Amino acid sequence: MKTYSQWFQEHGEKHKALMAKLTHLTPDEVIRYFRFDNMVKHEPDFCELYKENKKCHDIKELNCYLCACPNFRFKESGFHVREGRVLYSTCSIASKEGGQFLSENAIHQDCSGCSVPHQESYIKRCFSRDWFEIMQDVVPYDEED
Ligand code: SF4
Repeated sequence: MKTYSQWFQEHGEKHKALMAKLTHLTPDEVIRYFRFDNMVKHEPDFCELYKENKKCHDIKELNCYLCACPNFRFKESGFHVREGRVLYSTCSIASKEGGQFLSENAIHQDCSGCSVPHQESYIKRCFSRDWFEIMQDVVPYDEED
């Protein structure tokens, strides 16, 4: 199974390759191109879920430009231990729509109910053609941090 860091890197590379095809589009057109309905039809390999025509979030106007999310923070080796559980991921803006998955030993950020990065108004505010630039603070920390 892929680690989050591997997925992050691979997804960023896919985003970069797709953006290299879309240089003729304006930022607004790029954002429209990344609407779920268009992506499923024209970019079936961009996301595993597209093959099943399945959304990761039950949002009518789901936009995939900012998958993952610039506010997500992740550390493969964990940030710290809280009440016996390792905190592996968190939300830098403490979104009201976010939550946490708790297991016996771990805490993970739960973004399943959050629409923040999938809204086009938000994407316009963060927009860069370079996904890695937008996601620069998420960058999975290395084990030796
Ligand atoms: S809870 Fe929302 S804003 Fe926070 S990291 Fe998850 S998707 Fe992003």
